[in-house]
Amino acid sequence: MQARRGIDLHTHSRVSDGTEPPAEVVAQAVGAGLSTIALTDHDTTAGWAEARGAATATGLGLVPGVELSTRLEWRSVHVLGYLVDPEHPGLLAETARIREARRSRARRIVARIGVDYPLAWSDVLAQTSPGSTVGRPHIADALVALGIESDRSAAFAGILHPRRGYIEPHYAPTPQAGVRLIRDAGGVPVLAHPGAAGRDRVLGEDVVADLVDAGLFGLELYHRENTPDGRERVAELAERFGLSVTGSSDYHGSGKPNRLGENTTAPEVLERILAQGTGTLPVPPAA
Ligand code: AMP
Ligand code: FE
Ligand code: FE
Ligand code: ZN
Repeated sequence: MQARRGIDLHTHSRVSDGTEPPAEVVAQAVGAGLSTIALTDHDTTAGWAEARGAATATGLGLVPGVELSTRLEWRSVHVLGYLVDPEHPGLLAETARIREARRSRARRIVARIGVDYPLAWSDVLAQTSPGSTVGRPHIADALVALGIESDRSAAFAGILHPRRGYIEPHYAPTPQAGVRLIRDAGGVPVLAHPGAAGRDRVLGEDVVADLVDAGLFGLELYHRENTPDGRERVAELAERFGLSVTGSSDYHGSGKPNRLGENTTAPEVLERILAQGTGTLPVPPAA
């Protein structure tokens, strides 16, 4: 057998806004020839047990993780947390609070859309698995199922675009609080897709300095949504602050075009994450 290669540290399952169960994400990663993935559902660790079982059975390396929603004033900032303790009381409370805020926000968004289109909350619930983290992608899926939009991307460019006036933000802690919480929970924090809005909208040096003080480990440099000039700026910040850089697909199954392994993380960076993360155990890849 050809040795499996490739480390992809950002994927989603149906436990948040991916389209496949955690075991299927693992199976797809094996099929893609990867050696290790991280499962990083939004604001939940509920997919870990299933992913662990599947990874152990197939010899895939698994880094349990989470993608924590945070917010700096008006902008949403995602922080990946690897190897956090899933029972950490502060992390449990904060992720529960965010999930609840996401749910009530989604209900308000759906009520507003429902004035203009035949969309009901039950249509959105039908697109989620029980207990999962609800987001705009599930509203998109409901609009697609009703034939109002053609696919998720079209829904994001259409009814779910901020300019249309239906969406609103949800409660989230600040990035500084999020980074601190991940470290408190024994995890390793990495800023997700920090260059996605272009060079001029990468977080400023003062903010990054605060995040470094709070315990930031790295920046997700290789990600399809980082623009070319955004990526340049992210690389400069990594150099300036001595941060590690990661790469990932941000796979969402059929919910996004992102393919597993399209961007990867260097083995030595994974080694550092494994050395620093103390909240839970990874599944090592079969030799
Ligand atoms: P929310 O967290 O509810 O505001 O929704 C944001 C989520 O929507 C992100 O985590 C992405 O996974 C997803 N998303 C954003 N833009 C798109 C898009 N154009 N197509 C599909 N999914 C998207
Ligand atoms: Fe997502
Ligand atoms: Fe994200
Ligand atoms: Zn993500």
